[in-house]
Amino acid sequence: MLPDADFFSFEQLLSSEEAAKLAQLRTFLAAEVTPHAVRWWNEERFPTELLPGLAGLELSTPVQRGYSPLFAGLVIAEMTRADTSIATFFMVHHDLFVEGLHAFGSAAQKERLLADAQALRITGAFALTEPDHGSDVAGGMATTAVRDGGTWILNGTKRWIGNGTFCDWMLLWAREPATGKVRGFLLDASLPGIKRSRIEHKTALRTVQNADIELTEVRVPEAERLAGIDSFEDTKHLLRGSRIMVGWQAVGQQLAAFDVARAYAVERQQFGRRLAGFQLVQEQLVRMLGNAVASTGMLARVTELEQGGYGGPGPGADGGPGGGGGTDGMARAALAKSYASRLMRETVSLGRGLLGGNGIVTDYRMAKIFADAEAIYTYEGSYEINSLITGREITGISALR
Ligand SMILES: Cc1cc2nc3c(=O)[nH]c(=O)nc-3n(C[C@H](O)[C@H](O)[C@H](O)COP(=O)(O)OP(=O)(O)OC[C@H]3O[C@@H](n4cnc5c(N)ncnc54)[C@H](O)[C@@H]3O)c2cc1C
Repeated sequence: MLPDADFFSFEQLLSSEEAAKLAQLRTFLAAEVTPHAVRWWNEERFPTELLPGLAGLELSTPVQRGYSPLFAGLVIAEMTRADTSIATFFMVHHDLFVEGLHAFGSAAQKERLLADAQALRITGAFALTEPDHGSDVAGGMATTAVRDGGTWILNGTKRWIGNGTFCDWMLLWAREPATGKVRGFLLDASLPGIKRSRIEHKTALRTVQNADIELTEVRVPEAERLAGIDSFEDTKHLLRGSRIMVGWQAVGQQLAAFDVARAYAVERQQFGRRLAGFQLVQEQLVRMLGNAVASTGMLARVTELEQGGYGGPGPGADGGPGGGGGTDGMARAALAKSYASRLMRETVSLGRGLLGGNGIVTDYRMAKIFADAEAIYTYEGSYEINSLITGREITGISALR
């Protein structure tokens, strides 16, 4: 029996209840996701039939259920290890839509939607990016929200919105021209004036349904504005949390590549011996594992820092004063995401190579793992943008504007 890819035993940091829950998730993924994930990907189909089973795991917003942030991160890594698309669906819905509703929604909005959203009886999306504003969307957002008495009128276009073709609700962001402020809306996706079209021909995350969304004179009542949002700055905490979760996806992606490459290398024979018996192949497998372990270590620590408020106001991990008051959490979350996704690119590339020609057909899983990694590299702040966020902190100079 070969050792698991959790080579430094991070899972030993979980409580026994959390370890049991993670085992339950693994059993579910092995039965319900792994055997079908390549087919869904090839067919570009999202398996809505999976939703009751996913909801039954009761893993929506785990930290609010009393689980540790490390557990929440390992859940996303484990889902990604089984299928990046299912993990992305889960994160968009739970870590952005549900967490956003929880953080910024009014009591009435939460009363109306939160329980159904947590149980996946309704699905949500997070609509921020635009065709002409990706990395610079915070400052450049062109979608407008104009107040007209008790309603807001939305106009503009959003791009790349995950779950966007079928979701029931979206958290949508638009700028109020009169004040220049970014406003958040809880948008019923069936309102008149909303046109959603699926983005076709993707080479990554083909199971996720990403949409272009056109808004033409969409009228939204003031009661469906997110009252907890006064400016885009208010979303920072939410986006920092989801950035860390995407870092955990980069961990899961590397574990998946390692799993598939090692299994292949110990089985496949060339020159009369197994691939894993060649020194060069062992070095490549060890480099993949080392990248995954290093990424896990960084993510585990930044997850801990996030929980402790980065040594800012409030107690540190030992209940005493926080260690590094005033540190920029986003710069640390950004480093964890950029670093893990840079290592991920090397890891999946080594894995792809180790499968030879079979590494470019999805039947062997590796081609899908290799392709899906590209989405992780780009979303939640591309590698470059996250590097610049950290670069600003370590030099005191912003290269972004
Ligand atoms: C599969 C997928 C799912 C997504 N899901 C969602 C979603 O659910 N909701 C949502 O709102 N958005 C979503 N996005 C959008 C995602 O957040 C953006 O793709 C991302 O922010 C990058 O924006 P862009 O694609 O417009 O690239 P651009 O901003 O045009 O960047 C292009 C390239 O230029 C580089 N670049 C840009 N500015 C600089 C600079 N100042 N210095 C150096 N390099 C720079 C970037 O790093 C990148 O390499 C998703 C994207 C993908 C691919």
